[in-house]
Amino acid sequence: MRDVLILTSGQEEHHYAARTLRDRIEDLAGTDVRVEIREVGDEGTGGWIARIRGMMGKKKGETEKLLKWVRRTADGTLGRSRWPQFRRSVALALDEGSPELVVFFDPAVGLALQERVGDRSEAGFQRIGVALEAEDLRAWEKVPADLIWAADEGPAAELKRRHSTVGEVRFGGWPVRPEFVCREKSEPRARQGSPFRVLYLVNSRRRKAIRTVEKLLENRGIRVTAVVGREEELKADLKKVFGKEERFEVRGWIKDLAGLIREHDLVITKPGIITVREILASGRPVVLVEGGKKAEERKDMCRLVVRLGCGALADSPGEIGRRVEAALEGGGVGCREWRRRARKEAWRAAGAADRLAEAVVRRVRSATVAERLPELRLLPAPVTGKKQLLMVDLHCHTVYSDGRMSLRELVDFYGRRGFDAMAVTDHVVDKGCLIGRLVDLTGLVMTAEDLPEYFRALQEERNRAWIKYRMILFPGMEFNLDGLTAKRSAHLLGVDLKEPIDPGLKLKEICQAVRAQGGLTIAAHPHHMTSMWGRDTLFLWERQEEYKPYIDAWEIGNRDDLFNPVGLRRLPFIAGSDFHKPKHLTSWKTLLFCEKDPEAIKACIRENKDVSITLYRDHRFGRASLASGGERNAEEFQEPKALLEEGKSGG
Ligand code: ZN
Ligand code: ZN
Repeated sequence: MRDVLILTSGQEEHHYAARTLRDRIEDLAGTDVRVEIREVGDEGTGGWIARIRGMMGKKKGETEKLLKWVRRTADGTLGRSRWPQFRRSVALALDEGSPELVVFFDPAVGLALQERVGDRSEAGFQRIGVALEAEDLRAWEKVPADLIWAADEGPAAELKRRHSTVGEVRFGGWPVRPEFVCREKSEPRARQGSPFRVLYLVNSRRRKAIRTVEKLLENRGIRVTAVVGREEELKADLKKVFGKEERFEVRGWIKDLAGLIREHDLVITKPGIITVREILASGRPVVLVEGGKKAEERKDMCRLVVRLGCGALADSPGEIGRRVEAALEGGGVGCREWRRRARKEAWRAAGAADRLAEAVVRRVRSATVAERLPELRLLPAPVTGKKQLLMVDLHCHTVYSDGRMSLRELVDFYGRRGFDAMAVTDHVVDKGCLIGRLVDLTGLVMTAEDLPEYFRALQEERNRAWIKYRMILFPGMEFNLDGLTAKRSAHLLGVDLKEPIDPGLKLKEICQAVRAQGGLTIAAHPHHMTSMWGRDTLFLWERQEEYKPYIDAWEIGNRDDLFNPVGLRRLPFIAGSDFHKPKHLTSWKTLLFCEKDPEAIKACIRENKDVSITLYRDHRFGRASLASGGERNAEEFQEPKALLEEGKSGG
């Protein structure tokens, strides 16, 4: 079995191309190649990457300079979260998938991959960069890859001339879904006297749409089909205005757009990348309606159509009418020329997805297969209503506070490993007190105003975790009540919260608020820690008798630390990772014997029967030390060099 990893980063056309490619590879290779698509970065990084891409284009490929700039801004104005986070996303995707070949659509991903490879002469996997947009090619210079696949011919030649480190540059066309690929062998004969059929993909306001149809229908030889998608109101409006016109038809949501395009002689649309590519692959000319919100980023599609000479641009209903009119003059000479060129382009694009898939399969089959250790994974417990053994981790952090993984990554990380339940407990402080204000300046904790967004995201992931992994996700918070000394500091976990709790409340009030929501109160790292990273938080331990009634469980294990006294005092206990980054998976966990159900899990912890703890190490632990034959500690291995400059993380 060989693994192909396709990395997308935010853009719609990446997802489109990735899915098309995956389907073609699976058709072609059968079962011996496994394809996985992963999104790297999150919504936050999307906009940021767009900026980087802009910079890359302008900087004439001075990648080193750019990287320096990235590092500088990543440390400064952009905060710690962007470039390191993105790079870490890429590194994590690589680690989790251990692919033989990686396909990516974004030069920034290529740079992140290179950082990960470092100075090694062999990357350990093949890299194929797919440049979907000609305008982007500048950014691809110096992006290391075994193959760069350029969608357009001209830019491919240019890139080949300039690119110094790439193995191969190929022009291969844009990977359009096969149903759009033009299969007509020859030009269909013009039917004498039959009307000229225009397909209008409406993507504008009512008035403009009506004006456009009016203008088109002025020519008696034109038939118009307007497609409005799910805009029911617009559909009704158009019907009202043109209902009696025989040469007009309005359609709603279209399942077979490819078929509809083929039934027409010309398409009018806005310059969305995917739509334009699909129309061209169908061998139809196109009139692009310029302007609108995304005008800037759609410019390359306009340029493409002009360069190929297979259509025209127009920016108003009047101009659309005139363009079509002009193309039909003199027996339709202009239009025939557009069509001839569109067909030429279609012929070039035909099978692009297949060719790219072939290139991937050929390369991945010839790649040396990475040595793999057998994987030891938990099987998530089935949901039967019977008692069963559950692996649980109720103390985890994400980028909402000082964790390194996004919420989604964290859920995938635990879900893939078969955990049965987890809690996300990001730090929150009260900005009302001095220490709270100081801590808030670091940006590594949440304050009250971050909470609504945090809870919204948790609710979404809670559903996804259950649907995808049958894993229970408990929304939670870690209340950091830090005083100037250890004895005046406490960290309290609230687990399974329905809504935010004001971090400015008194400790006992917080406990009451957590319980009022049906949640658990857990004293986090309540005793002296022997590991290096943390400050002790002893407030609750010092006032044990007073607080016992408020606390459902005490952490007897926190990451690498064990707190013997919790056991000696016979306090109700659990253990958790205090997870901040992947290597923290190797840590103390809780095993419960109860039903796989949120209420049953909480009841089991409250009662503190059928509870035990376990030191968890997954199959990746120490792999490097096996590979290198030397004694290297697990920490060194699990923290890739590229990620090392990040500081220590708190609890
Ligand atoms: Zn803590
Ligand atoms: Zn913590």
